[in-house]
Amino acid sequence: MILSEAEFHNASTLEQAAELIGRWGKQALFLAGGTSLLVDLKSDRYRARHVISLTRIAALRGIAPADDGVRIGALATLDEVATSALVREECLVVQDAAREMASPQVRNLATVGGNIVGAVPCADLPPVLAVSNATLNLWSPSGVRNMPIEDFFVGSRQTVRRDDEVLTEVLVPGSPAGFGAGYARFGLRQANSVAVAAVAASLQLNADGSVARVRVCLSAVAAKPTLVPDAHSVLAGKVLNENGLERAAQAAMAAALPITDLRGSDVYRRELVGTLTRRALLTAQARARGEK
Ligand SMILES: Cc1cc2nc3c(=O)[nH]c(=O)nc-3n(C[C@H](O)[C@H](O)[C@H](O)COP(=O)(O)OP(=O)(O)OC[C@H]3O[C@@H](n4cnc5c(N)ncnc54)[C@H](O)[C@@H]3O)c2cc1C
Repeated sequence: MILSEAEFHNASTLEQAAELIGRWGKQALFLAGGTSLLVDLKSDRYRARHVISLTRIAALRGIAPADDGVRIGALATLDEVATSALVREECLVVQDAAREMASPQVRNLATVGGNIVGAVPCADLPPVLAVSNATLNLWSPSGVRNMPIEDFFVGSRQTVRRDDEVLTEVLVPGSPAGFGAGYARFGLRQANSVAVAAVAASLQLNADGSVARVRVCLSAVAAKPTLVPDAHSVLAGKVLNENGLERAAQAAMAAALPITDLRGSDVYRRELVGTLTRRALLTAQARARGEK
């Protein structure tokens, strides 16, 4: 594979990035860690005459406390997320996902922004961020748009992002008492294997241990991250027991729209969704109860 000829540009500010993308429009693409984009350019999935690197834009870096939780800059690497004490404290499930992704080499380069904007159906961060109630900030010269992460995705590799918009940060609310989240992922190898199916779940428990709120989000089994619509109605107000787990697993399997490919059949993936939903909910419950 040979990288097709493209001119490389460095933007040092958001304004410069906007100016450069405005100059070439559809002929230009933003670059962060390059772990997806360079592969896609080499394989001709995408074509670009100009590549605009965002990596010098300081405003996109860092992981820091925000008003109520954590601000994760779009250029934060997977390794920074995997090792951040703040992420561990405020949104552990996001760290779980980052630790399972790719390999140490890739995690050192790959960014949170690239994982989200790439909108690959099996990406690991969107489902854990969705069950953590995360929102995205998209910057353009006309202002900043803030939206829940689940509203960002339209389909496989398709999002609502306009060409001139830069994802600047992800805002993740902290975990209140009684909140817990878990991530269960199935891949074919320990490292450098994308998910065949994955499920993230979060629970907010009432003082009596019953479920106040629940979110279940599926990955790699539909064109985009999919929140299970019936998860709340089957579990709300009840203590999570075997019956609840079974009903939630069935609801998740019904919401999945898996395909058959080299990694697994649609039937196998749907079965995985049931098992992974149970695992993610049990982890969420244990964490919501404060169990280690
Ligand atoms: C060997 C290998 C293993 C992998 N394993 C996994 C895995 O286990 N799980 C997983 O989810 N992914 C995996 N990936 C995919 C990839 O590494 C991740 O999705 C990574 O987070 C992409 O980030 P990046 O910074 O490299 O993005 P880039 O490749 O730089 O960009 C990806 C896309 O996002 C756009 N973009 C990037 N940042 C911004 C921004 N701030 N604003 C606007 N647009 C932006 C780019 O234009 C491009 O379209 C793997 C890749 C490789 C090569």
